[in-house]
Amino acid sequence: MVRGRISRLSVRDVRFPTSLGGHGADAMHTDPDYSAAYVVIETDAEDGIKGCGITFTLGKGTEVVVCAVNALAHHVLNKDLKDIVGDFRGFYRQLTSDGQLRWIGPEKGVVHLATAAVLNAVWDLWAKQEGKPVWKLLVDMDPRMLVSCIDFRYITDVLTEEDALEILQKGQIGKKEREKQMLAQGYPAYTTSCAWLGYSDDTLKQLCAQALKDGWTRFKVKVGADLQDDMRRCQIIRDMIGPEKTLMMDANQRWDVPEAVEWMSKLAKFKPLWIEEPTSPDDILGHATISKDPGYSTEMKEESVKKHQYPDGEVWKKLLPAQEN
Ligand SMILES: [Mg+2]
Repeated sequence: MVRGRISRLSVRDVRFPTSLGGHGADAMHTDPDYSAAYVVIETDAEDGIKGCGITFTLGKGTEVVVCAVNALAHHVLNKDLKDIVGDFRGFYRQLTSDGQLRWIGPEKGVVHLATAAVLNAVWDLWAKQEGKPVWKLLVDMDPRMLVSCIDFRYITDVLTEEDALEILQKGQIGKKEREKQMLAQGYPAYTTSCAWLGYSDDTLKQLCAQALKDGWTRFKVKVGADLQDDMRRCQIIRDMIGPEKTLMMDANQRWDVPEAVEWMSKLAKFKPLWIEEPTSPDDILGHATISKDPGYSTEMKEESVKKHQYPDGEVWKKLLPAQEN
């Protein structure tokens, strides 16, 4: 049972100098300092439990996100957690539909990042008060309650609350078994950590060897700055991981559409599962064109459309039919 009234919201600008080692570098973000706007919310309940939420940033600009969090704080402060949880969709809408702040959003850019940090902190507080990690809170939640937390505005033409409820109710079958399997075997993941664009070939080889030793089977390589460089690095990594393991590529929005098609026709020989963000993230038609290139495998066509950074509901809505056409 949740308890307490939100009595304090603080936000910190936390930065790590990752750019010094080229960690996290890609074709567009060449000197990232991995950072976060770090939100902590407290209640007047006696348990002393705090909710923590972060939004990832690249260094500069974190102060702008921090400023936006402070601008949103009044939507959270002095609210009973019980009331927030009882109408989570309403709370979400209040944050995303602030009559003045939404002008500099809505649901995108700095305001979106700030909203995410606040919402993450609220979810964390909720889960901690229930004595569970957030994933377990969600897994145990009644499907009707779960869909009531989601704002379907702008996507009801492709997915209604009833549709979502039906999907979740069908998913109840076998849920316990899947949870058990997940706890025993973990969730499948890939690593990008050996193939940042800021790494030398030696570092790439060394980290790839270590990742293979650690049991990784899926690897993502950053591409897009220099074709010859990409060809060499992809060859190294494909040679090391062999033909069976999965390779993915990420251009981080570097190309225009014809460039993406041309570039990928050269990199296709390394059998990537997908090319992530080949062009502008908002260019839905461009993604559709790129994914229809005959040089792509079927999987690549599907995955390149699915994999999209900053996917809000509206972008998903446009990507799905773009993939089918
Ligand atoms: Mg990416």
